[in-house]
Amino acid sequence: MPAYINEIFNSVQGEGPYVGIRQVFVRFEGCQLHCAYCDTPQTRNTSGTSRIEKTPGSGDFYSVKNPLDRDQVAGLIRKLWSPSTRHVSLTGGEPLINSDFIRTLDIEYPIYLETNAGFPEKARELKDIVAIASCDIKLPEHESTDHYPELLKNELETISIFNETSKTFVKVIILPETTKQSLSFAVDGVASIDRNIPFVLQPVTSNKAVSSSRLFELMDYAGEKLKDVRAIPQTHKMMKLL
Ligand code: SF4
Repeated sequence: MPAYINEIFNSVQGEGPYVGIRQVFVRFEGCQLHCAYCDTPQTRNTSGTSRIEKTPGSGDFYSVKNPLDRDQVAGLIRKLWSPSTRHVSLTGGEPLINSDFIRTLDIEYPIYLETNAGFPEKARELKDIVAIASCDIKLPEHESTDHYPELLKNELETISIFNETSKTFVKVIILPETTKQSLSFAVDGVASIDRNIPFVLQPVTSNKAVSSSRLFELMDYAGEKLKDVRAIPQTHKMMKLL
């Protein structure tokens, strides 16, 4: 079954504990959520074309028709691999929607999955082939869904599944209005699974900055229950990379 892909390119990972590592990015289209801060709104729906980088890191693209089949995507990943590249980042949109496609994608490189963690049943299908799982936990103020308790339950189940087999970390976007109370959904949830799971607070990239005092307050709050709490912004945007 083919998949709708927004773009394929080579860059460095800009978020989370693997920041700075070179990756080939495969950005899937389609997402079941509608986060207020979404920085890839063009990927929520499917489109007629996909843009493909011509050579690794060139920033020069050509278009191909959507959807793409798995052999085509595997060939493009190989073409965009480079000597310092270490992972294939499957991102979106929400890549887990395409779990059948991913499961049969015949590539020899480690898979780094960036997911909103809303599909535990699909996580179960992929847990043995994902090397690194970057799992979001949404907060109520993200306005990602009209069914927050159900999303939170699914996210925690997904994290628990990946944590058994993959290097797993959690990423939470911090908005200026985020409080200890809203962050508690994520902190308590992760603490109930494994206190050692790295827990990244990512201040939203926006004109309305999160104050350093708020960020430190939230880090200390999380640090009371979790062992590895970090604040990491979107560094690729600082470097003006894709
Ligand atoms: S889960 Fe990601 S792609 Fe989907 S709406 Fe939220 S930020 Fe955008």
